[in-house]
Amino acid sequence: MMSQLRERLSMALQSIALMDTHEHFVQEADRLKHGCDFFSYLHYVHCDLMSGGLALEKVSLEASALSSAQKKEAFFRHWPNVRFTGYGQALRIMAEDLFEVAEITPDTFAELNANAAALPRPGYYDTVLREGAKIVRACRIVWPHSSTMCDLDHLFPVPVFDHFATVASRGDLTLLEADTDVSIHNLHDLEAALDVAFAQRAEEGMVGVKNFLAYRRPISFEQVPAARAEEVLLRTTQAHADTPVGFEEARPLQDYMVHAIIRRAVERDLPIQIHTGFQNDNANFVDNTRPTRLVNLFMTYDAAKFVLLHGGWPYTQEFVALAKSFPNVYADMAWTYILGAGAAERLLGDLLDSVPANKILGFGGDYNFAEGAYAHAKLARRSIGRVLAGRIENETMSEDEALEVARMIMHDNGARLYGFAEFDSP
Ligand SMILES: [Zn+2]
Repeated sequence: MMSQLRERLSMALQSIALMDTHEHFVQEADRLKHGCDFFSYLHYVHCDLMSGGLALEKVSLEASALSSAQKKEAFFRHWPNVRFTGYGQALRIMAEDLFEVAEITPDTFAELNANAAALPRPGYYDTVLREGAKIVRACRIVWPHSSTMCDLDHLFPVPVFDHFATVASRGDLTLLEADTDVSIHNLHDLEAALDVAFAQRAEEGMVGVKNFLAYRRPISFEQVPAARAEEVLLRTTQAHADTPVGFEEARPLQDYMVHAIIRRAVERDLPIQIHTGFQNDNANFVDNTRPTRLVNLFMTYDAAKFVLLHGGWPYTQEFVALAKSFPNVYADMAWTYILGAGAAERLLGDLLDSVPANKILGFGGDYNFAEGAYAHAKLARRSIGRVLAGRIENETMSEDEALEVARMIMHDNGARLYGFAEFDSP
């Protein structure tokens, strides 16, 4: 049973728009090109299924070799174990609200599967995202060598430039040359190609830059003299794709280029999203992602806008401390409510207690499909409601103040940071 206060707050949060700072799904026109079924919606749940035992059976529901019947059998063998995790909860919300089937069971599966397949249709982003989740717009991560797939209405591009840092062979350079039409023989050429890529992405409406390197290396990026970076690059121009330059050797070039990317983002006044914390898969080095590894960047580039993603979970205390201390660091809660509602609520509480409210970015869905963002938004509003209710109950905030803070962290801070504030002023 919710108290009256909690019910009132929950109603009020329904009507506050969300600026979604971090997504992976494509614009509706691209989404509608491909068919889907229930299994297309697993995404994160698949990781929990794998962790719960599917991986030990050497089975993957993402492998197309399995028949639908085989997938169904394997899914329901493990589903009971994951239905209460954040990922599982989000899938249950999709099933109930969007596929209109109350329970995910073997008996309801045929209906679930049919309704899931029928959901994507022209105009459904307006129904599901704008009306359903009140997500007015979202930043979309754009991968290297890929088109933006952003409509500049619901979705705005935040491209990754990491591939300019991770070149390890002649083949990698050839791809950059093809993208930018710049011949790359030395470090000067590589930076010239990066300039071209920035100009191309700016033309496409880029609103920020994303650094994704936490998935493949420690996120400490030293300042390296150009001559050391160039030595690596010259080796790279001679390295065959079968024998690329290894990470230990490549590191000075990677570090140098990460700084080069940051400098260009600063020149264009673009926020720099950096993946910190937990990686989305079932085997990775999570301690590569500690937010405190980034401190030298915060010290060096005061004019930058560093957006630390995902609460840095499980290093949330480091994350809070950095956002509290550095004026150029923003705290982004993207992905957190489905990683775990309890952890996300403790984190949001800590942020509100310690960090200036204008630097808290309260929502990023982080899904490969819009339906996931819908479900995540519902869980986020529940968590935000619980945290703010606690603040009202312990008399830190009045009800009006809590709603003011909600509008800031759910919408206004993100809209201002990514340059949309003027769209939303009355
Ligand atoms: Zn993401």
